Amino acid sequence: MSGKARIATEWLMVCSGCHISLLDIHEAIIDVLAKAEIVRSPVLADVKEFVPADVGIITGGIRNEHNIHVAKEMRKNCKIIVSLGSCACFGGTPSLANMYTNEELFDKVYKNTMGVDNPLGREPQDDVPPLTEKVAPLSSVIDVDVMIPGCPPVPELIAQAVMSLLDGKPLELPNQSVCEPCPRVKKHTKITELKRWYKSAGEELDPDRCFLEQGYICLGPVTWGLCDARCPKVGVPCRGCHGPLNPDRDPGVDAASFLGTLSSDIPMEQVMEAMGNDPIPILYQHQFGFTKFNNFKDAKK
Ligand code: SF4
Ligand code: SF4
Ligand code: SF4
Repeated sequence: MSGKARIATEWLMVCSGCHISLLDIHEAIIDVLAKAEIVRSPVLADVKEFVPADVGIITGGIRNEHNIHVAKEMRKNCKIIVSLGSCACFGGTPSLANMYTNEELFDKVYKNTMGVDNPLGREPQDDVPPLTEKVAPLSSVIDVDVMIPGCPPVPELIAQAVMSLLDGKPLELPNQSVCEPCPRVKKHTKITELKRWYKSAGEELDPDRCFLEQGYICLGPVTWGLCDARCPKVGVPCRGCHGPLNPDRDPGVDAASFLGTLSSDIPMEQVMEAMGNDPIPILYQHQFGFTKFNNFKDAKK
């Protein structure tokens, strides 16, 4: 890119954590701003217009018609689109809503939840964009050039990716699972029991041993290891936030398959109990919107 590159950012269905992660690149921002200017960002200024940019960074997935409009405007105006964070890349945790219809969700949120006082059964209708049928990844509505997953993505990875784009160099990401950088010791023993994570509160865990081998579900083996195993390193099992190691495969099926293999001697009731008798939020916590089950219509036109 000759001269300073133009960077635009936008957020769709988000908690805003991914944009905060952009700020968390700390002093690397000096290197970025030496080569680029930020021409549009909802975090910095409440602008509605879209402006041409070399790099468009979009956080968040697709939940309503306005998200689709914004995504398409960004695609029209930006030469390179970066899908930042697991909501944008895979639908993220909000895509667990795809287990229900929108009608069921509205009933739950506005009518049937304890503490909700809504005798007329009103739902928000005016001046709010209609929901899409499902929560979907950004790639279901526009072409995406670069995916940087994570909930939120690791700031060092964001800085590396943005600098690669600005320098016109290919972004080289490690093809490894979370287990590879994880320092916890694996003795490759068969798992003899599986427990829910909350039970670890009353138990002395070996701080150096693999969580799976201590009977706790850790999705490290099927998760893309872009985060330097930051959860297992601080004493928490991996929940799969950086998405599938192999994006061509169904992440939940892969997770179920490795758990099934490792725990083949454990009664099914115990395996189900370890998943709270509801496997989907465990196996697909950040990527239910990325499964083949969702069957998104091609909305790219
Ligand atoms: S990926 Fe995580 S941090 Fe980013 S917007 Fe979604 S929920 Fe928030
Ligand atoms: S399963 Fe989890 S704790 Fe065990 S090595 Fe892999 S990432 Fe580390
Ligand atoms: S260890 Fe797992 S849950 Fe934690 S940041 Fe890495 S991919 Fe995400």
